Amino acid sequence: MQEDSTSLDPKTYYSRQILLPEIGSEGQKKLQNGKVLVVGAGGLGSPALLYLAGAGVGTIGICDGDLLEESNLHRQPLYAAQNLSRPKAELSKTRIAELNPHITVHTYPYRLTAENAKDILQAYDIVLDCTDNFQTKFLINDAALFIRKPVIRASIYQFEGQIQTYIPNRGDACLRCLWPETPQEGCVGTCGQVGVLGPVPGFFGVLQAVEALKFFLGMPTLKKGQILFSDLIHYTQQVISFERNPDCPLCGEAPTIKQLRENELWELSLSDLKNGQFHLIDIRELEERLAQPYSGLCSMMPLSTFNPANLDRQSSYAIFCQKGKRSQHLVQSLRAQGLSKVYSIIGGIEKLISCK
Ligand SMILES: [Zn+2]
Repeated sequence: MQEDSTSLDPKTYYSRQILLPEIGSEGQKKLQNGKVLVVGAGGLGSPALLYLAGAGVGTIGICDGDLLEESNLHRQPLYAAQNLSRPKAELSKTRIAELNPHITVHTYPYRLTAENAKDILQAYDIVLDCTDNFQTKFLINDAALFIRKPVIRASIYQFEGQIQTYIPNRGDACLRCLWPETPQEGCVGTCGQVGVLGPVPGFFGVLQAVEALKFFLGMPTLKKGQILFSDLIHYTQQVISFERNPDCPLCGEAPTIKQLRENELWELSLSDLKNGQFHLIDIRELEERLAQPYSGLCSMMPLSTFNPANLDRQSSYAIFCQKGKRSQHLVQSLRAQGLSKVYSIIGGIEKLISCK
């Protein structure tokens, strides 16, 4: 028999956690009053969202501009195989609202940008950085510093990962204290390039949820400047601390970054591609095109004979190769030559074809 969700009683729903002396009904009220924004509803965001919703954090925001892809499913248990190509923000909202009807969920079904970041973050008490790219991680870092918003960030690499709770008002070191400039995408492999075991982001996403719940409950979180590293092959764990850098361009003594930088977006996901007007360019060589033809409308300009003079500076181009690596390098080089409207398609033809 199906239970009518309107008959659910919050006292029963939360009874097991209210039993904890650290929570009780007072703690439950604190959670109910809490507002958390989760940026990235992927491998980290999936478990984080489920546990935050289950625990009864009263207001949850979800910011994600991607569509569900088949290769997401092994590590993103928020989603169902029947929902491929649908917006992840909306799917995750539906799922967590089903899990807990006592909470409010808001969605931002688009990318976080320099234009919208401060407005979106402003409405929440804390932000979970569950993203997998440097551009958004640095954007969240910078926006959080400007509006003094705590961030729980995590990142993973194959079988290991790290988590940090960044609280600007505590005088914590920011990301730019360690890396003054946003690293180039691709300098560390993403899940799509080097692979990932599903439970690894799951593990760190759960830790992010634990940190957020402790934050709302006033329990001890990771301390100032601490980063927890964990290797899930050998089960080794270490906590290192780092200090504010007085030369940091964002939070140092003479900051040079005084506002959020213009959107440095130059890689396109499939949803970006759907939402924009681009001329597609296939830079693969003839034999690659024959082996895996692209049936859509595009220009063929093989990398071996590529001539930037053939591009019109006023037009927007989305460039793809087989896996997204060569197009990434080409776009970097074209941008250095002053072509500002060239973009690389993440994942190349393999992604384009898999998501038809
Ligand atoms: Zn800093």
